[in-house]
Amino acid sequence: MKKTKPANLLDLIAKKKNGIPLTLNEINSLVSDYTLGIIPDYQMASFLMAVYFRGMDDIEILDYTKALMNSGDVIKFSKMKYRPVDKHSTGGVGDKVSIPLAALVAACGAPVPMISGRGLGHTGGTLDKLESIPGFNVNLSMEEFKSLVVRYGLALGGQTSTLVPADKKIYALRDVTETVDSIPLIVGSILSKKLAEGAQSFVFDVKAGSGAFMKDEHQATVLAKALVSMTKQFKKKSVALVTDMSQPLGNTIGNSLEIIESIELLKGNGPDDTLELVVIMGAYMLLMSGVVKNRIEGERKIIKSIQDKTGLMKFGEIIKAQKGNPVVIDDYDLLPQAKYKKVLKASQSGYIEKIDALDVGLASVYLGAGRESLESIIDPAVGFWVHKKVGDKVTANTPIITICYNDKSKMEKALIDLKKAIIFSDKVIDSPQLIKSVIEDA
Ligand code: URA
Repeated sequence: MKKTKPANLLDLIAKKKNGIPLTLNEINSLVSDYTLGIIPDYQMASFLMAVYFRGMDDIEILDYTKALMNSGDVIKFSKMKYRPVDKHSTGGVGDKVSIPLAALVAACGAPVPMISGRGLGHTGGTLDKLESIPGFNVNLSMEEFKSLVVRYGLALGGQTSTLVPADKKIYALRDVTETVDSIPLIVGSILSKKLAEGAQSFVFDVKAGSGAFMKDEHQATVLAKALVSMTKQFKKKSVALVTDMSQPLGNTIGNSLEIIESIELLKGNGPDDTLELVVIMGAYMLLMSGVVKNRIEGERKIIKSIQDKTGLMKFGEIIKAQKGNPVVIDDYDLLPQAKYKKVLKASQSGYIEKIDALDVGLASVYLGAGRESLESIIDPAVGFWVHKKVGDKVTANTPIITICYNDKSKMEKALIDLKKAIIFSDKVIDSPQLIKSVIEDA
């Protein structure tokens, strides 16, 4: 990382505290000096809190995003037939969309350099899900990552130590200083990573609801608009969808269970909500990549690649290329299996009014499916099959959720927590609108 001309740190903090925008040089020096360890955590924390309350204008967000991006390597692909394209989700419970989506979009011809994260708190992570496939290696060097994209049109990797190191350090500090939910800091963090991985256009899935990072639809929409408008400043295309995360997505929560559901989707047996998101996001990705001329053509192509199994074949190909066992596609017994199962049944007849995504996510973490801190070890086998969704009619004793667990001492509490997460109603309940809005780069 280049050392920039020093700026007086206390002056920078005071400027931000008083709502005065910082210059490019000031932002560069702040980000580089913090990453190099010259600025201590307590002063950076003070700066982040000032940003939290004072915000940043568009020029500052642009400069901040560039400073983060340039703190490490930036991947560049030489010219390909179609533009590389990626997707980012702000994260949720049961959100396995990235896995089938990446395989389908790549099978349709668009290069997908996908860098994903690990689960933290109540939300799951794509890397943990992929690692439940025996042998699957997500720890790719930059060269391996690039060559997989060139050869297979797809790579599924994790953030390396040289990719946006500034964000890694700043994000960890935000996490312990209550400064995560600041729109300029989130935009800089998400976009710098996406820009560094070499994609030219992006679909953002901004989740809204109890299981999301943004609980409220209005705030999620503000973030979605900010991501799209800032991406445009970098002369790249993007589309953001604001989607429901009030209940878990699909029918599974837990790492190997979500791999099974992803494979089932690629075989044509995906749950409606997950399939709907995969089809629309895939269509936008194909459109922005240049594979199709319009969204409808993109949707048809994604559906066709489910029907003719080319998406499934692409997934098998990339599992093998990343050292995993591709036979899992036909034999789910090769995935980690939980020893015990317990079925939670409906306590009454009626309609399901709520299956709270946050409560279900927390219960899955308690069972071992997620991690409470970055150091926690996860159990890839455990999790839930969700048989009923909000709006479904049930009679007493209808199975609602199957708990798959390994640690007998944890089952009772997980069961109690799940019972609290589910509310029944005597009245007909509409299922929540899945796609709340789409923000396109006009
Ligand atoms: N996800 C990120 O990568 N960064 C944020 O700041 C928030 C969510």
